[in-house]
Formats: sequence, structure tokens, C-alpha cells
Amino acid sequence: MIKVKENYSIKELHTFRMPVYARWFVEYETVDELRSLLQSDLLKQNKFLPIGGGSNLLFVRERYEGVLLHSAIKGISILQETESEVVVKVGAGIVWDDFVAYCVSQGWGGAENLSYIPGEVGASAVQNIGAYGVEVKDIIHEVETVEIATGATRVFQNPECEYGYRSSIFKHELKGKYIVTAVSYRLQKTPTLHLDYGNLRNSLPEGDITLADVREAVIGIRRSKLPEPDECGSAGSFFMNPVIPVEQYERLKTTYPDMPHYVVDETHVKVPAGWLIDRCGWKGKSVGGAAVYEKQCLVLVNKHNALPSDVVTLAEMIRQSVQETYGITINPEVNYIE
Ligand SMILES: Cc1cc2nc3c(=O)[nH]c(=O)nc-3n(C[C@H](O)[C@H](O)[C@H](O)COP(=O)(O)OP(=O)(O)OC[C@H]3O[C@@H](n4cnc5c(N)ncnc54)[C@H](O)[C@@H]3O)c2cc1C
Repeated sequence: MIKVKENYSIKELHTFRMPVYARWFVEYETVDELRSLLQSDLLKQNKFLPIGGGSNLLFVRERYEGVLLHSAIKGISILQETESEVVVKVGAGIVWDDFVAYCVSQGWGGAENLSYIPGEVGASAVQNIGAYGVEVKDIIHEVETVEIATGATRVFQNPECEYGYRSSIFKHELKGKYIVTAVSYRLQKTPTLHLDYGNLRNSLPEGDITLADVREAVIGIRRSKLPEPDECGSAGSFFMNPVIPVEQYERLKTTYPDMPHYVVDETHVKVPAGWLIDRCGWKGKSVGGAAVYEKQCLVLVNKHNALPSDVVTLAEMIRQSVQETYGITINPEVNYIE
């Protein structure tokens, strides 16, 4: 059933938990409902935005003068199964971590390192979510969509999604053109565990490690480092880690010998944005109710009744100071919503 709400508070529907209202909030449960909505005057005459759990969004104003379109398409079904793997189709409106928990309970490996990432299945395929050395592109088989202009369904095979670091074709070339309705993932029945990232291995028990052990360890680490949206609003990592040319890194290293980096390829390195922000002195600093998270400078939080303008101003001040200090441009990972 289609649900339409007008002048609707979305404070609890985005993880920054700021006082934002949507002119309309519309929810649908099936692909046919979505297609009929796309034909409606409401969507033809107003701007609209597909949203999932609102965990990577920064509404820049206290009112969104359009339609927020939320998928409540549910369902998990097996498309293919062999002795070694299973391909499962999952509705875009399923909470991502519920799906991860389901995979772990079934003994299917591949998603466990991505435990506890907020948000829903549809956005996982748009954002190419990643954590602990794994990206969702590693397990995505195909992505089912509806084209906004025509209402036609289209299935994108994994290579067609052009996945990169926190990016996909749906965030770039095809931005605003397709709505994801379901995602199929390929999971392993005899999983290869990925344990050599950060402090994951140290958080695991001795001996044989199960998928449930990995999930539990990942959740434990994440809870200790990241704010829980219900306690302190945020959108996770606010900025992406910048990728810079090796020569620029070598020059900077003469002045900042302890600057961490990860090799991307022969000509580029990635520098942790959190380190840059920390070294510019931003830890714990605030603008209005918005602040830089004490435990992780990459995260901006709604510390005390923040308004969208507080977060926008703080982010811009941080961006400028990193640019002036290091000559490095940091770009938001969070989607700014006008
Ligand atoms: C505390 C915290 C920790 C986080 N940790 C991580 C992390 O470790 N790794 C990581 O990658 N991310 C992380 N994130 C960011 C966030 O969880 C992901 O980006 C997630 O995929 C967003 O999902 P969502 O359903 O909330 O999408 P939303 O924030 O609602 O939307 C994100 C984007 O996807 C688009 N979109 C949503 N649904 C659809 C759809 N059905 N069809 C087409 N477009 C759609 C929206 O228009 C928007 O552009 C974290 C966020 C928080 C708050």
C-alpha cells in the first residue's frame, strides 16, 4: 500500500536526527506501486529523492520542499544455489544489518565484515558500502531498478554498476535516473574470512573462527568507535579519504613525516581524512550544536540540538582548513540534500 504524509517530520528518519520536515514523505511496497507513483502528478510536478534509512544524508535546510520516496519493498528469496554458493535476491527496503544477520545465521559468508552499517539494502548498491577490508561490490551479483523517466525495469549486472570507493554509476553518470528495487548478492557456503584489516583479528577469539564470531567482533569495534544514532546523531564518516599523487605525498612527508598513507596504485596514495582533520586541531570543536566527534575526527555529530546550517558551516570550515594546511581537498562522503 502507498502511504503519503504531508509536512512530515523526518527527525527519526535520518541518522543526523535534526529537526527537518519534508513537504511529502511517500512510501511504497511494490515495484508496481513505484511505477504508478512515477506517473503521478505528485512526482511529475515536484522534485523528489529516493531515500533509505537516511544514514548518509545531510539535509542542508530545515525543510525539504519535495517528496522523499521510501521503498518498503521487502522479501528475501534464493535465485540460485550450488554446493558452494547461493545467490539471494533482497528487497531494497530491508534493513541492511538484518540481511547481514540473516546471512550469518544461514552460514553464508561474504557480508559479515559489513555488519552493523546503518541503512537499507537499496542504498548499499548505490553507495558501495565498505568496512574492514570488504566492499559490498565484492558480493553484489546484480541490481534491479526502475528507470525514473520511463518506469521500465532494468537489471544492472555487477560490472555495469562501475563500482569504486563509495561510488557507483548510480551516484555519477546515472544519478537521479534509476531507483533500486532489489539487490542480488552472491554468498559463499564455505566462506573465506577477511580478518587482516585494522584490529579485527585482535578482537577475535583463539582457534576456529565462525561467521558469528566475525560479526560479533565487528559490531563490538564499531560500537566502541562510532556514535549510535539514537544517542548522538551523525551520518558516519563525513568526508572521504582523499587520494593524492605520490609526488604530493612525498613532498608533504618532508614536513609531516608521520602522515599515514595507503598505496592505491603506482601513482596514487590515500591519506586518512580523519588524521588530517585531527592534526588541524578540530577534535571536539563545535559550531552551534554540531561538533567533531571526540573519538573519531572523520565523524561530525549532532551534539546538542544542531541545525542543518551548523553542520554545513562546520564542514566547510574543516574543508577549508585542511586545504590551507596541506593543500589537499577533502570531499564529503555524505550526500548534501538541497
Ligand atoms: C554511524 C554510522 C556509521 C556508518 N558506517 C559506514 C561504514 O562503515 N561504511 C559505509 O560504507 N558507510 C557507512 N555509513 C554510511 C551509511 O550507512 C551508508 O552510506 C548506507 O548505505 C546508507 O544507507 P541508507 O539506506 O541510509 O541510504 P540514504 O542515506 O537514505 O541514501 C543514501 C543515497 O542513496 C540513495 N538511495 C537510497 N535508497 C535508494 C534506492 N532505493 N534507489 C536509488 N537510490 C537510493 C539516496 O538518494 C542517497 O543518494 C555509516 C553511517 C552512520 C550513521
